[in-house]
Amino acid sequence: MSIPPAATSSVSFSQGVNLMADRALALLNLADGLAETIKACNSVLQLNFPVKMDDGNYRVFQGWRAVHSDHRLPVKGGIRFAPHVNQDEVIALASLMTYKCAIVNVPYGGSKGGLIVDPKTHSVGEMERITRAFARHLIDKGYISPGGNVPAPDMGTGQREMSWIADTYKKLHPHDINYFGCVTGKPPTNGGIRGRVEATGRGLQYAIHEFFRHPKDIALAGFDSGLAGKRVIVQGLGNVGYHVAKFLQNEDDARITVIIEWDGALHDEKGLDVEAVKQHITEHGGVKGYGAGAYIADGKSALEIDCDILVPAALEAQITIHNVDRIKAPLIVEGANGPVTYEADERLRARGTVVLPDAYANAGGVTVSYFEWIKNLSHIRFGRMGRRFDEYRGQVVIDALEEMVGKEVPAHLRDKLTQGADELRLVRSGLDDTMRLAYQEISEAFHTNDQVNDFRTAAFFVSLKKVATTYMEMGV
Ligand code: GLU
Repeated sequence: MSIPPAATSSVSFSQGVNLMADRALALLNLADGLAETIKACNSVLQLNFPVKMDDGNYRVFQGWRAVHSDHRLPVKGGIRFAPHVNQDEVIALASLMTYKCAIVNVPYGGSKGGLIVDPKTHSVGEMERITRAFARHLIDKGYISPGGNVPAPDMGTGQREMSWIADTYKKLHPHDINYFGCVTGKPPTNGGIRGRVEATGRGLQYAIHEFFRHPKDIALAGFDSGLAGKRVIVQGLGNVGYHVAKFLQNEDDARITVIIEWDGALHDEKGLDVEAVKQHITEHGGVKGYGAGAYIADGKSALEIDCDILVPAALEAQITIHNVDRIKAPLIVEGANGPVTYEADERLRARGTVVLPDAYANAGGVTVSYFEWIKNLSHIRFGRMGRRFDEYRGQVVIDALEEMVGKEVPAHLRDKLTQGADELRLVRSGLDDTMRLAYQEISEAFHTNDQVNDFRTAAFFVSLKKVATTYMEMGV
């Protein structure tokens, strides 16, 4: 989606991320200079390259790929296509990838790419040539490879672009049998994995589930009941916002009371039908004109509506010093990267709003990317060897039970016992486990350390401790 960014902070995006990291670094007692070493972006490649347009003329495109930290290889992170992307943003996002991967124990360094382009203004043919040209230059300069730097989808990119990138790499390295591992987020029919498209939204849902398993944390947000019936505001019904909204509504009985898009917001205290709103956006380009609920032309003002959970899943810098004091949600779950500016975050911390930070909450995407990469390197689908064997063993258990007790196992239990796990189930199971364990580490850091007073600092604390340990052990 394209909600325009707001120039709303006295510090840049990357400075803001560093300041947030500083709160945790101050508690870690690291050797002099190590904090600076960790925060520094290792390298940034800027590219200016021409592409032939449909009309026969040429246009020069500008893009970047930043490698924040290669303490683990490959480095990982999406490529965004947007008209407003800039170098500072790419560096900030690359550093968030380093911290994100450490939080969810995904063994990667952090990277990010960005290209100034508005995909809506180009034909499919032009987009393919632009993507392939960008990829070719990145591969040529060592910024894409299965063992070195592995991009993924981000804003403005998806399966289609990842397929083009994989094919570009394959053509340049025809003898690399691991070519599919050079990029993740590919379609399952072309080296991808089931469950990757929904992964970031699914990860947000699992993060919220885990939050609601922790009574002390529930109390911090002032809730006295579970997720069912909670009023949720979702900003951005793109891939991340759509999936989390759909899952919370269909599987958890939460009420999606507000949906914010680039052209306004919809508000209905009874709950909006996420699927129907998505359909309307697909057909009409925005939420305006949707038949149910109240339409609010100033979409961003809808962030301030009373609710239980606010999920900003659009762009960075949406909750700023200018609107933070009017934000009512006691729980904010960051679907986007950097939706809360540094100054706004200071205010939220001071007043005790619970924020599940981006580097943890939206880590489902890179987690499932990790599963996809492992699948690519192992050249076999998860579940292929064991699924039927598990089903057979389940049947043996049923037969044994029935023989011993002389009664039939009820059909619903029989079905469960004889169901071997397919790829999608295994991916969801791995993602759920990842999000739960990471939450537990963050929550423990929060509750056991007097100087940690918010979940973002706790997440940075957990993450930076791991990154610092790696630096110390490998030697800088
Ligand atoms: N672009 C996503 C993110 O910001 C996914 C990155 C990946 O899968 O490598 O986390």
